[in-house]
Amino acid sequence: MKAFPPLQQSSRKREFSLYTDAERSSVVYHWLFTSNGFRELDTLCLNLDGAHSHGWQSMGIAHYLGLNEAHHNFFDQCPMSYALSLLLAQSDQDPAYALIYCYLRDWHQSHPQEEEVSVLLAKEHDPDYQTQQVEASYWVLHTLVNSSDEQQIDDQLRALATLDPKKHAVKLGKHHYHVSDAALKEAVKCLYDFQCQICQTRVYRPGWLATLPRSAQWHFLNADAHHILPLYQEGPDSLDNLLCLCPTCHRKFHTEQLHLIRHNQNLGCEDVILGRQWQVTEKHPIILHP
Ligand SMILES: [Zn+2]
Ligand SMILES: [Zn+2]
Repeated sequence: MKAFPPLQQSSRKREFSLYTDAERSSVVYHWLFTSNGFRELDTLCLNLDGAHSHGWQSMGIAHYLGLNEAHHNFFDQCPMSYALSLLLAQSDQDPAYALIYCYLRDWHQSHPQEEEVSVLLAKEHDPDYQTQQVEASYWVLHTLVNSSDEQQIDDQLRALATLDPKKHAVKLGKHHYHVSDAALKEAVKCLYDFQCQICQTRVYRPGWLATLPRSAQWHFLNADAHHILPLYQEGPDSLDNLLCLCPTCHRKFHTEQLHLIRHNQNLGCEDVILGRQWQVTEKHPIILHP
């Protein structure tokens, strides 16, 4: 992606001072992500009649922050995660970029639905991000753990194991999708916050921030779900037959370098080539089929 154009701040603070941070972030978002002009922005973001206010209010805010025509619709069709990481990278050179970053991040955090995370992620054309998987993660986030408080999230995810698979449906736009198996895979990843149960590795995606709420961080992490007893060996498609793994450990299970073992109550892993054993993170009931 090309660099974000230089900011040319104006010293005129009058319009900027009149509005709240939420209104300013809305102006920043719409100027960078849509083709709406300042008249429309006055209406959309500031609750004014743009035809009468002539767009001068939102223009004043944008110009004070250094945004001009060069930035208009710059992030058209671009995933929010890329926009945020680009601005963050450039804020090393000039802290003014960090301010744009903050307004954009605030807007993003207060408008999760309008961003249709699933659609954004699908647009990344990431080979690891299959549409079905993205839909399932949308469903897990917006239906299953939707507005649960932090302590209940794990219980909600584990409860999916006993939920009727017919209810694993997600609506995106006009379409309904059934996500039963994909939802289980997403749930096991979310339960472990995308951290490998075997080696604790996490794979981060651009836009990840430690300060985001737990479930918001899930958009910016990557992991594999693995069936302990493979489906082709008639292993069940159930949560107790799934593990959350990093790509490296996942490969090692499929090359039979790694095996799960159970000692009394503890679940362990054995590396049969290097001859090592260690304990595995276990946040959900796991059944080993002999
Ligand atoms: Zn691993
Ligand atoms: Zn696998």
